[in-house]
Amino acid sequence: MENCLFCKIAAKAIPSTIVYEDEDLLAFKDINPAAPVHLLVIPKRHFATLSDCSANEAPLLGKMLALAPRLAEEFGCAVGYEADGTPTGGYKTVINSGPDGGQEVYHLHLHLVGGARPWRGMR
Ligand code: 5GP
Ligand code: ZN
Repeated sequence: MENCLFCKIAAKAIPSTIVYEDEDLLAFKDINPAAPVHLLVIPKRHFATLSDCSANEAPLLGKMLALAPRLAEEFGCAVGYEADGTPTGGYKTVINSGPDGGQEVYHLHLHLVGGARPWRGMR
């Protein structure tokens, strides 16, 4: 997609702080972080929204979601457990879809948001 910001980021025509890359996915730091850790995971292939993905995209979507806990671990916001089993840490995984979903960039992306609270915006 010629005029898509995240396609340009995926093609490295626009710089970003890339934290993960493979043949299907790219993850990079959000330019305006809402929390201490705020990463975006995108498919390199263009899908405007989650609603533009068919059931055929289930493996790709699964791969995006499965990457999140790995990145959370790397960026220090993984879910952990106290000795008594109480959960600690953690993060949000968010996909905004369409105007009513608060989507601003129309290339599918998964937000990974975590770190010490309070966070701006996201509850
Ligand atoms: P949306 O509201 O579409 O779910 O989220 C779009 C996200 O993309 C926002 O959190 C915004 O800060 C981020 N963003 C917008 N433009 C750029 C950019 O040029 N570079 C990076 N790294 N992030 C961007
Ligand atoms: Zn795109």
